[in-house]
Amino acid sequence: MSKKIGIMGGTFDPIHYGHLLAAEECRRKLGLERVVFVPTGEPPHKRGRRVTSAEDRYAMTLLATAGVKEFSVSRTEIDRDRPSHTVDTLLEFIAEGGRAKREFFFITGLDALLGIETWKEYMRLPRLCTLVTATRPGYLVAGLDSLPREIKDALELVEIPQFAISSTEIRSRASKGQSIRFLVPHLVESYIESCGLYKS
Ligand code: NAP
Repeated sequence: MSKKIGIMGGTFDPIHYGHLLAAEECRRKLGLERVVFVPTGEPPHKRGRRVTSAEDRYAMTLLATAGVKEFSVSRTEIDRDRPSHTVDTLLEFIAEGGRAKREFFFITGLDALLGIETWKEYMRLPRLCTLVTATRPGYLVAGLDSLPREIKDALELVEIPQFAISSTEIRSRASKGQSIRFLVPHLVESYIESCGLYKS
């Protein structure tokens, strides 16, 4: 039997309870042995928009997942000295395992996945993994119809009923000095405050 491993890809700027819940729901529903969070290094598609440093996003992801034995965090995209592409990440994970039988599930948000046709070598992805989208309640999934058949066939939709929190909202609240308590784990909240992240 091959081991099923989730790869949770995201910018995580910052990581919040919605991400943790999505990872756990996907783990449970898809029978994953573990979920590896992979914060993006230099997001290839976000040049021009200010993104918090990779080290800060990595630190917050570590703090958020600390003590959860099924979760871990990878530096693979952060340590890459070129833009991070999902195909390269998956090939690295596959190579790392040697001959061990492992099946990969790449988990990300619906909005991100709808742009998959702009990703590097995206048609290789269905051969490397199952693509999983964690959707927020009420999200229209109509955009998925226009994706190539090979991508749709490799797709699993996992609706996360309570996933209403967004990083955008948290950044906005933090920039205005509003509370982000209970939206992110306590250690992440303290990190954001002590480093003065998201102050406009
Ligand atoms: P994003 O634009 O930051 O996020 C798009 C949407 O998806 C947001 O609503 C976001 O919510 C949500 N989201 C992001 N990651 C999620 C996750 N793991 N689980 C559930 N929802 C999630 O997208 P991104 O984070 O930059 O990209 C997502 C992944 O796609 C990354 O691993 C990235 O490397 C990959 N990607 C690869 C390429 C490529 O290979 N060329 C191009 C683009 C993206 P929040 O804002 O609340 O997080």
